[in-house]
Amino acid sequence: MHQSLHHIRQRLDAIDQQIIGALAQRQELVREAGALKAKTEAAVRDPQRESEILQRLRREADDAGVDRRLVTTLYRAMFDHFVELQEELQAPAASSDPDSGAPASSETLAPAAPDETPDPPPQHDKPYRLAARAHRTDDSTVRVGDVLVGGRAPVLIGGPCSVESREQVMACAESVSQAGGHILRGGCFKPRTSPYSFQGLGQEGLELLQEAGHTFNLPVVTEVLDPGDVDAVVHHADILQIGARNMQNFALLKAVGQADHPVLLKRGMMATIDEWLGAAEYILAQGNPRVILCQRGIRTFETATRYTLDLTALPVVRERTHLPVIVDPSHASGIRRWVQPLAEGALAAGADGVMVEMHPNPDDALSDGPQSLTFDMFEALADRFHAMTAPALTAAA
Ligand code: PEP
Ligand code: MN
Repeated sequence: MHQSLHHIRQRLDAIDQQIIGALAQRQELVREAGALKAKTEAAVRDPQRESEILQRLRREADDAGVDRRLVTTLYRAMFDHFVELQEELQAPAASSDPDSGAPASSETLAPAAPDETPDPPPQHDKPYRLAARAHRTDDSTVRVGDVLVGGRAPVLIGGPCSVESREQVMACAESVSQAGGHILRGGCFKPRTSPYSFQGLGQEGLELLQEAGHTFNLPVVTEVLDPGDVDAVVHHADILQIGARNMQNFALLKAVGQADHPVLLKRGMMATIDEWLGAAEYILAQGNPRVILCQRGIRTFETATRYTLDLTALPVVRERTHLPVIVDPSHASGIRRWVQPLAEGALAAGADGVMVEMHPNPDDALSDGPQSLTFDMFEALADRFHAMTAPALTAAA
């Protein structure tokens, strides 16, 4: 037994040696191609060719019984690396003329617009792998009952900041349902800045939210604040929300990563995009692939709004991860009349959905009243939502 393991390992070592040899040959050819590209000023990166290579290799991997995700991950990392190598060939050293302290003349410079932003660092420098775009070729989708998040049609999530009473949450659920919303939200465990503010109804709130969801056939999402509450929330809700303040609560991320429920992961108000994706990785790494990202505004120098809605993050996130991403314009703006334009902006920027707060009587809300929409405002927002997303539905048909 021991002998045969030893033997197998020797054969593995020999194969590894072949792989390194093959990589060295590939690198040499990439260098030659890079030198030719540098002469002709051809673009280093050729996404079309990369995609063709990947498609061919995935077919070959399928035929050989090799996991296509492994091949995709390896080759994407390789492409990044070899592109860097070719770029180094193209970039002239500033000191290429040893007699002159001046940079090389513009004719010899690689064609780069002065305002061009640098390429993002290669994927292997990131704090995430499973969340990385390279891990999957297609966008991941998250199914919650009849609702698909991350499919072609964006989703509309509405509901109160906090569940306050049966009457209140039922009224909200009815309004969401009538307006054609897809998911009901409502906080039961509230992360409040002051310990003296309303902390949520806890278990009672979970039961009311679940009842409202059942009554109007809407899946429900609610925040979980403590690893010890995950089981209770799983029992009553369809999606577990991780709030902005807990984005890097690693114990909580691991706990929801072990749950068999989708997770809505809000971006921390002081978190970079890569920290956000690193947090998603904690959940994925525990074996839970059903992560939905939620952009809810970050803290900047601006004080006119509660936070600043970073829509810039949307295309960046699309590029860096396959996970669906929705936007919460309520917590971003903090003021109800600004919610709808931001929701429209989010959809225009490619969000997979929007989540907004609403209340039967916002001025009496126990939390986040100023940003909560009236039912009329929610209906108006929903109308615009459907008008903007109808083409996506048609295209999907
Ligand atoms: C919420 O959605 O109710 C909430 C508390 O949001 P955030 O974590 O984004 O502040
Ligand atoms: Mn709120």
